[in-house]
Amino acid sequence: MSLAEIQARIAMAEEKAGRDEGVVSLIAVSKVQPNERVAAVLDQGHRLFGENRVQEAAGKWPDFRASYADVNVHLIGPLQTNKIKQAFDLFEVIHSLDRPKLAKKLADEAQARGACPGLFIQVNTGEEPQKAGVLPVAADGFIAECLAMDLPVQGLMVIPPAEEEASLHFALLAKIAQRNGLVGLSMGMSGDFEKAIAFGATHVRVGSGVFGARDYS
Ligand SMILES: *Cc1c(COP(=O)(O)O)cnc(C)c1O
Repeated sequence: MSLAEIQARIAMAEEKAGRDEGVVSLIAVSKVQPNERVAAVLDQGHRLFGENRVQEAAGKWPDFRASYADVNVHLIGPLQTNKIKQAFDLFEVIHSLDRPKLAKKLADEAQARGACPGLFIQVNTGEEPQKAGVLPVAADGFIAECLAMDLPVQGLMVIPPAEEEASLHFALLAKIAQRNGLVGLSMGMSGDFEKAIAFGATHVRVGSGVFGARDYS
């Protein structure tokens, strides 16, 4: 697969869903990918990327930013509170706000800097014990809590359980966002981004579909 192919499939999915062309942002998930592959996608003009580890992002994105203008990097993996300052330096948007302690520390740092990355609240719609995210039943309260701290919450994010029909989780996330007046929906990966677009995704996170398979060896 390739960047162009994924972009074309996103455009088709937007049209099929009756949504305006270009409403869905493609986050090219560059975690674990060799720098040459990332540079190739930058050279094709793409500027929006996702990383799931702060440390890994710190090792590559300051250099890429020095060579390419207008790069946007989103954190799509877990954030430890001791990495908040680093995260503020590295990311335009954080998709993994999932607990009150993290919200409080982000608000403190935002206050100190007079600026804050955009935020998505991660919801654990599958209620999986090993997975990050606020539980659906606690989502409304947590969203209100974050907004009361003046955090720039743009929307919600989900990683559906691998074994379940993703549509149910996309629909639930959209419903929670809608009743809380949130517009952003970060959902859909290589295997299911078209489905996510049908359910209203505004940000799809596509890794292997853009770059090829990740080599963890
Ligand atoms: C790795 C990752 C993705 C991309 O996965 P692909 O299947 O390669 O598209 C999307 N979202 C999150 C949170 C990830 O960690």
